Amino acid sequence: MILNLKYIYGIIFISLSAWVVYAYVTTTEIIQSQKNYAHIINISGKQRMLSQKTTLIAKRYYETGDPELKKHLIELYWLMKKDHQEIVNTHLVSEDIKAVYRQSPDNLNEKVESYLELLADFIENKDPEILKQIEKASFELLPQINKTVYMFENESNKKTQALMDREFFILVGTLLTLIIEAAIIVIPAIRIASRKDSELRRLIEERTYELEKLSVTDQLTKLYNRRKIDDILATEVEQARRYNNSFSLILIDIDHFKKVNDRYGHLVGDRILQALSRLFSSNIRKTDIVGRWGGEEFLIISMEKDITKVLIFVEKLRTLVDEHHFKTVGNITCSFGVSHFKQGDSIDTLLQRADVALYEAKKAGRNCVKIEKSKHLFPV
Ligand code: GH3
Ligand code: MG
Ligand code: MG
Repeated sequence: MILNLKYIYGIIFISLSAWVVYAYVTTTEIIQSQKNYAHIINISGKQRMLSQKTTLIAKRYYETGDPELKKHLIELYWLMKKDHQEIVNTHLVSEDIKAVYRQSPDNLNEKVESYLELLADFIENKDPEILKQIEKASFELLPQINKTVYMFENESNKKTQALMDREFFILVGTLLTLIIEAAIIVIPAIRIASRKDSELRRLIEERTYELEKLSVTDQLTKLYNRRKIDDILATEVEQARRYNNSFSLILIDIDHFKKVNDRYGHLVGDRILQALSRLFSSNIRKTDIVGRWGGEEFLIISMEKDITKVLIFVEKLRTLVDEHHFKTVGNITCSFGVSHFKQGDSIDTLLQRADVALYEAKKAGRNCVKIEKSKHLFPV
């Protein structure tokens, strides 16, 4: 369908271009003939003037007998004869004009020639009778020559109109050609370019997203890495300070992990780290965040403000790990140290208290949860 449309556009485009070229070439011809018309109008107008002037000079010559006037009359006679011959031989440009010159009732050719004969006769004989005939003929000739001048002007106007029509046609043709050109070349090209552009942008966005994700992800466990956890901690501490909120840190350390590695190998140890990560991330709340803090240590940031609820949640996690069957190894346990944000805390003080609590858990025999000993949590 699209291909067919393109063919149709193509054919219209080629025909239009051919038409425009044709119009251009014929326009040049019209412009050339316009120059011709200016010349014809000029000499036919001159004939009108000569038909009157010759009569006038003939009359004066008759009255004065001045030889200068005779000379002038002869000159005008030849001029009128030459122009008349030019009109009749080369400039009868339309059937109407031809009819005026060559057919009755006008028969202008004959009339001008007989006028010229009378004039020649008068120049020769200076006969008053001929002068009278000249005056009569000139009187009759004037409106007819006038008529031909208008006819020539009319023909010229027709050509001017044709020229304007062609100008309009060339304009419309050029515009249509441009529109079709835009439809078959420019618009599809822009579309392809913008499609490529948006594909490229999407690819860049995708790659940027992947890179960003890679830079904040721990490759083994796919949890947030320490750098990202540090960033989140900084934000949370800031928020808690500003809005007088609190949150909890849960530091988790696998018990006797070295032994697991020693007994089953590093690869099995890695699998344990991955299984534990899945267990943690699928059992925390949506608002909580878990990351890999170090080798076999994890950190959970819990947004729960109520410390009792936090402890219930951590105990549940501990039980989950304890009761989980890990492939190859079977049972694994973890120790948990919990600290709770208080005003004046920094990341370091908060982490340090969680670390102490974790140490306490290890000291207490592992596989247990210890919370920091602070008066702000459980005032006595
Ligand atoms: P504790 O109960 O006192 O924590 O004993 P532990 O053996 O877990 O503690 P220790 O700090 O002595 O040993 C931690 C071990 O964790 C040592 C190291 O081989 C192991 N470990 C750290 N990172 C990785 C890891 O990416 N992969 C594996 N397989 N083991 C790791
Ligand atoms: Mg450790
Ligand atoms: Mg350990």
